[in-house]
Amino acid sequence: MVCPSLSSRYFLLLMLLIISPYLYSQQRDPAKNTPSGKPNIIFIMSDDHAYQAVSAYSSKLIRTPNIDRIGREGALMLEAAVTNSVCSPSRAVMLTGKYSHMNGLRDNGTFFDSSQQTLPKILQQQGYKTAVIGKWHLWSTPTGFDYWNVLPAQGHYYNPEFIKMGKDTSYTGYVTDLITDLSLSWMEKNKDGPFCLLLQHKAPHRNWMPPLKYLHLFNDKTFPLPRTFYDTYENKPALQRQQIMVKEDLDIRYDSKMPCDSCPVQKINDWAPAEFAREIERLTPPERRVWDSAYAEEFRDFKKLRTKDEMVRWQFQRYMEDYLRCVQSVDDNVGRVLRYLDEKGLAHNTIVIYTSDQGFYLGEHGLYDKRFMYRESFRTPFLIRYPRAIAANQRLSQYTLNLDIAPTLLDFAGISIPADMQGESMKPLLTGNKAKGWRKEVYYHYYERSFGLTAHYGIRTARYKLMHFYDPVDAWELYDLQKDPDEMHNVYGVQAYAKTVEELKKRLIDLQKKYGDDVKR
Ligand code: CA
Repeated sequence: MVCPSLSSRYFLLLMLLIISPYLYSQQRDPAKNTPSGKPNIIFIMSDDHAYQAVSAYSSKLIRTPNIDRIGREGALMLEAAVTNSVCSPSRAVMLTGKYSHMNGLRDNGTFFDSSQQTLPKILQQQGYKTAVIGKWHLWSTPTGFDYWNVLPAQGHYYNPEFIKMGKDTSYTGYVTDLITDLSLSWMEKNKDGPFCLLLQHKAPHRNWMPPLKYLHLFNDKTFPLPRTFYDTYENKPALQRQQIMVKEDLDIRYDSKMPCDSCPVQKINDWAPAEFAREIERLTPPERRVWDSAYAEEFRDFKKLRTKDEMVRWQFQRYMEDYLRCVQSVDDNVGRVLRYLDEKGLAHNTIVIYTSDQGFYLGEHGLYDKRFMYRESFRTPFLIRYPRAIAANQRLSQYTLNLDIAPTLLDFAGISIPADMQGESMKPLLTGNKAKGWRKEVYYHYYERSFGLTAHYGIRTARYKLMHFYDPVDAWELYDLQKDPDEMHNVYGVQAYAKTVEELKKRLIDLQKKYGDDVKR
């Protein structure tokens, strides 16, 4: 054996010192060294997840350490909002970067025109591997994806079917776990990148069916009614006619899961038993025994209720428990994705977004559901992490929209943003350039009239929110958010605000012109 001389040993040591950080970075961060250098993208969107139920926004209801981690290691947008607070339209806005009147999908009943330009199509043309896994809810066949495996329509919580590349496929398990399993498995095959995965949860959508392991979670917790729960809807004609009230419209069977059909104080809608059966009968007999035993405890409490007010408060607790049990499972599964990125050394070069298709009422104004331009459904959680470019621990308060997601991701990927996208890239905000000239006001337009709702459009500025409800109710509402952040007192028509209304209406018309929304007046 020939020993290397002292000088050649020094040389070897020196070489090792020089190349080891490179070797380490290769091992730690393979995607950083993909030929394109483009970031991977994981867009996690849940369905109806209220920011009130994300502990990075509010710690009153639940701890969501994994979702919070995205914001702690990146940025949390405090005033993220949607342009049209309902499921399919919001998804279409996110995919196209265009308002509903431009992408053609104004309400839940419309097919998405999948021949149009979308974010995944552009990424795919630029060399990305693309996938959508989980909730789709746009009716037309997904386009622009190398792989798609989506729930039909709303999908089911237990042992659900998926449509895998056009083929019906059944799976065993809980939907939130399964969507994550399928996502991890697709990422594993595509981890050389760059990839873009839309990981879209069904949860915590109504009727809030929890994973069996969490059927007892929160049993020992009492959730206080929000301070606006008993809103009287004075001077708010559109709210007076809606049918999404906790105390009137939560179904005792479908929503509260009680078997009672002869109790004196409850509501069971005609459609509810069949709809509930459609969900619960998916459980296997052993699973069903676990379920029945857990809800038998709830039923014992339910039978003790005597007054309408006791019933309302009890139904609110049931609503919170099941909703938050579903959220807990979403958070667990976000944790699985983040751990996967850590283990594979992909975290540094991967953009991770967590958001919801809109906000949701957890009893505020006495409501569940979404749709209105009032704060809780207009605002939505939005957290983003990208260690390579976005500094940690940012809490930003600029007005961002789901309209901005497509331009932002294209910008981070170094792809030019098509001129017809109406959103703005958040990249300057997120990378510390102050983004002078960022929007100071937001335009909103909601169209659906189901559940007794009223179509409306409006403008939100730093101090005010002005809304015009126009079909079938015709009424204006103005809120002074500085004095009344809870939006309890409509001051439209109050003399002191006459000049403000005049100015806001001008700004509203300017926004409608800017975005090409041809509203008949
Ligand atoms: Ca939704």
